[in-house]
Amino acid sequence: MTCTLDLHIHTVYSDGVVDPLNVVKYAKRVGLNGISITDHNTLQGSLRALEAVKSLKLKEFIVIPGIEITTEYGHILVYGLTSIRRFTTVVELIDIVREENGIIALAHPYGKLLFLPYRAVETPEIIRNIDAIEIVNGKTPPISNRRARELALKLQKPGIGGSDAHTLTEIGTVRTVVEGNVSTLDEILEAIRRGWCSVEGERTLAEIVASTVKRHIQKLLHYTFCKRRYEF
Ligand SMILES: [Zn+2]
Ligand SMILES: [Zn+2]
Repeated sequence: MTCTLDLHIHTVYSDGVVDPLNVVKYAKRVGLNGISITDHNTLQGSLRALEAVKSLKLKEFIVIPGIEITTEYGHILVYGLTSIRRFTTVVELIDIVREENGIIALAHPYGKLLFLPYRAVETPEIIRNIDAIEIVNGKTPPISNRRARELALKLQKPGIGGSDAHTLTEIGTVRTVVEGNVSTLDEILEAIRRGWCSVEGERTLAEIVASTVKRHIQKLLHYTFCKRRYEF
C-alpha cells in the first residue's frame, strides 16, 4: 500500500495560522496517511502534532517530525528528528542528521524571492550530500518547481513535495506518495532515501498569491480579535 503525505506544513509555532491538533484532524479528514510539520527553526509544532496523534488515538496516521531551518544557503528541511544537536555549518548539520538516521532535503531550491536559486544549489558540498530535493513546493511557482525537478534529475536525488501550507485548506494540495508497504517512520524515511516516491499536485501562481493574501487577512483578524478581547 502506498502512503500519501504532505511533508511541508507550517503552524502557529512559526508563521502559520493553524494549531498542530487541527492540522492532524484536517489531514486525516482529507485522506492523507501522514504529515510533517516543518515550522521555521523550531520543532515545537512537530512535537505537538505527535502528542495530538496520541491523544486522538489515531490509527494508521503518521506524523514525521520535521523542521525547516533557515540558513545562508537556503531553507533546509530535516525529517525524523525530535531534537537537533547544536551545529555551526550546514555541512555539520548534514552529518548530524545522517548520524541520527534522519533525512535532510533542500526546500524549494529556486524559490528565493519566488524564482531565484538559493546558494545551496551552487555549493557542491551541500547539494551533493543532501538526501532529497523538494521538487514541488505549494508556495513556489510552477516554473521554479520545474527547475527544481531538473536539478533533482541531474543530481539523481529523490524528489519530494509538500504544500508549504500556512492555512488549513492548503494542507494536502501537494503530496509525496511513498511506494511500497511502508507504515513506520523508519520505513518511510528509508523509502524516500531510495527514491521510492513521487509527487502529486501543484498550484498556479494565482492560487499562491490568493492564499498568501488570505493568510494575511486571517492573521489581521486574529490580531484584531485578540486585541479587542484584551481591551475588554
Ligand atoms: Zn521555505
Ligand atoms: Zn516552508
